[in-house]
Amino acid sequence: MGKKKRAVKKGKKPHKNKPTSKKYSKYKIEGNNITRAPVCPRCGPAIFLMVAKDRLYCGKCHYSEFLNKSSDKSGSQSDNKSNGSVERGE
Ligand SMILES: [Zn+2]
Repeated sequence: MGKKKRAVKKGKKPHKNKPTSKKYSKYKIEGNNITRAPVCPRCGPAIFLMVAKDRLYCGKCHYSEFLNKSSDKSGSQSDNKSNGSVERGE
């Protein structure tokens, strides 16, 4: 008799609260100015870019933008890529 009783529910699933959107955290209000997080040039001003330590990335269209620190260039990497944006996909 090792049967486990399983409550089989039919019909509606129990409602769960979704985590709220954190989009508000992408905006900062400083006095009369509103500072926004970097947005995706492809998707438009509503889609924000994920900010990594050296690049920006759009999770929607996979656009990525690399940040090159012009002032900090003391032989860290041997990138032969030109600075600016690098588009992936397609
Ligand atoms: Zn995008």
